[in-house]
Amino acid sequence: MMSEERPDDNELDLTAIERDLRAQQAEVRERLAELSRPPERGSQVAFGKRIGDGTSEAVSRLTEVGVFETLTDSESHLARALEKIDEGTYGTCDSCAAQIPAGRLRAVPHSALCVECARAGAATGA
Ligand SMILES: [Zn+2]
Repeated sequence: MMSEERPDDNELDLTAIERDLRAQQAEVRERLAELSRPPERGSQVAFGKRIGDGTSEAVSRLTEVGVFETLTDSESHLARALEKIDEGTYGTCDSCAAQIPAGRLRAVPHSALCVECARAGAATGA
C-alpha cells in the first residue's frame, strides 16, 4: 500500500479532489431532491383498489427513508470535506488533528477523520 516508488505519493491534488467532491455532492443533492418530491402515483390509484397497496407502499417508504438517510449522510460528509478544503484543514483529522494518510484520502476522499477515529466512531455508533 505504501509504495516507495512514488516520492510524491503524499501530494494530494486538491483541485481534482474538490472537483470530484463537488460532482458527487451535486449528484447526491439531485437524488435527495428527487426523493423529497411528493409521490405522484397515488393520484392515479382508483378508489376501492387500495387494499394491499398499503403494504408495498409502506415497504417502499421504509426503503426510501433508508436511502434518504444514507444520502443525507453522504451529503454532510461531502460538504464537510469541501469545507475542510476551504479552511485548509483538508487531510487533518477532525477529531484528533492527526494527519490523515494520503492513501486513505484517495480511497475515501471525503474522510474528515483518521482511520483510528473513524473506527472508534463506528464502534460507538457515532
Ligand atoms: Zn483522529
